[in-house]
Amino acid sequence: ARTVMWFRRDLRLADNPALLAAAGRLGTREPGAPGDQREVLALYVLDPHLLSRAGAPRRAYLHESLRALAEAIEDAGGRLAVVTGDPVVEVPRVANRVGAEEVHVAADFAPYGAARDDAVEQALTAQDRRLVRTGSPYAVAPGRVRKGDGEPYRVFTPFRAAWLDHGWRAPVPAPDGVRWLEKPRGAGGAADGEGTRALAARPDVDVPEAGEGAARALWEEFLDDGLDRYQQDRDRPDLAGTSRLSIALRWGEIHPRTLLADLTRLGQDGRRSSGMHDGVASFRSELAWREFFADALWHTPTSARTSLHAVVPEDAWVDGVDEDAALEAWAAGRTGYPFVDAGMRQLAAAGWMHGRVRMVTASFLVKDLHVRWQRGARHFMRHLLDGDLASNQHNWQWVAGTGLDAAPYFRIFNPVTQGTKFDPHGDYVRRWVPELRDVPGAVVHEPWRLRETPAGYPERMLDHAVERKVALDAYGRR
Ligand code: FAD
Repeated sequence: ARTVMWFRRDLRLADNPALLAAAGRLGTREPGAPGDQREVLALYVLDPHLLSRAGAPRRAYLHESLRALAEAIEDAGGRLAVVTGDPVVEVPRVANRVGAEEVHVAADFAPYGAARDDAVEQALTAQDRRLVRTGSPYAVAPGRVRKGDGEPYRVFTPFRAAWLDHGWRAPVPAPDGVRWLEKPRGAGGAADGEGTRALAARPDVDVPEAGEGAARALWEEFLDDGLDRYQQDRDRPDLAGTSRLSIALRWGEIHPRTLLADLTRLGQDGRRSSGMHDGVASFRSELAWREFFADALWHTPTSARTSLHAVVPEDAWVDGVDEDAALEAWAAGRTGYPFVDAGMRQLAAAGWMHGRVRMVTASFLVKDLHVRWQRGARHFMRHLLDGDLASNQHNWQWVAGTGLDAAPYFRIFNPVTQGTKFDPHGDYVRRWVPELRDVPGAVVHEPWRLRETPAGYPERMLDHAVERKVALDAYGRR
């Protein structure tokens, strides 16, 4: 029998249950058990609808990641077929061409992906073929963790407790000896074909190394050198205190189940330092946030666009605000608040921003510049290599005070005190804002205190103390 493994947000071979299922190996203890003669075609579909939203950095990263996946499949004797078009048309077409009875995927729970999969399933069924969903990008699939009365959780801490209780399956082995099918004629270009090459055009960012090998290496380095200090350093953008695995998790180059299994092993090792045990708990908790937000988006798909709690009106919420001008200065990293500007410039140059700074820049846009969270979220989605609808939109809602278990509206980040606390020597600002490179120490967070503003750096576009009050008044009126 033949099957198609349709890769989407799972660009890896290791710990990939859908791939094992495609190869007929899920649950079989002996790889290559006699009688199982499945051949697997590896497929990726470049969907113009998704690509148009992705932004150049994300498209360039996808290009690199597909190349790494194609190489891994070629090393194992197969070929990755890459086709461009609407999956509802392309997936049945390829399945038909190779005579596959089943198309295997990891389930997609985001609004577009879930609807697309239902449509693909219908088209396959009409041809007497099957779409088989195995696993998801999460340790626990959205919708599974529920309160006793069956309702979804709306508060994080009890969700996390129930999620931990629910547990997850162990990682599955890499499928050695899969009988990969050679890419048939007409099944689409290779991973370095025209369609994928177009992805790489003008990314304007330094795209980090992609692929499951790079993801695994990043994780091992973090386990060796970061996890025992994670609890202590994770809020410090001037230190490399976090894992930077968000990009690999976004593309499924590594699965959270793999990470959680390593964390469990370390957490059970009594010889480890208390820093390591704190790191284990804290990292696991961050992964739980990722799953909490995916669960929220699945239950309420409209939350990608609409506030869950209408504390902020959906139109401009402070009279007279020129959202376009505000957004432009913020996006260019020219607000005159160095910690905010450093974050926005890191985003533009690296396609990634430290999590603490994401909170501060988002808060600045919503509460100091009075711009709707949706506009900031859209900008982030266009630039972040890890841009993920569930994590991005719900974190924005958290900051705006409109989301699940959100920051209370009166919590307004002060960009100067956040800077001096989490970038105490100013190294992060100097790294990303070259105009301030010669300003020593923490005063770099308040260039207006210098005798002269450094050449080329803008004056503050607003006074935080004043805008904070405007925001509080506007929220208070609601
Ligand atoms: P680590 O500290 O090493 O954390 C490990 C993993 O836990 C991360 O890779 C991520 O998968 C998960 N995680 C950590 N914090 C959060 C969080 N607050 N919410 C959800 N998952 C989390 N994360 C994205 O993956 N994609 C996004 O589009 C995204 N947009 C964001 C927008 C805003 C306004 C804010 C405040 C946060 C956003 N985050 C997003 C969450 C978080 O900032 C990043 O996941 C994190 O900074 C990535 O760095 P890391 O991998 O080194 O994190």
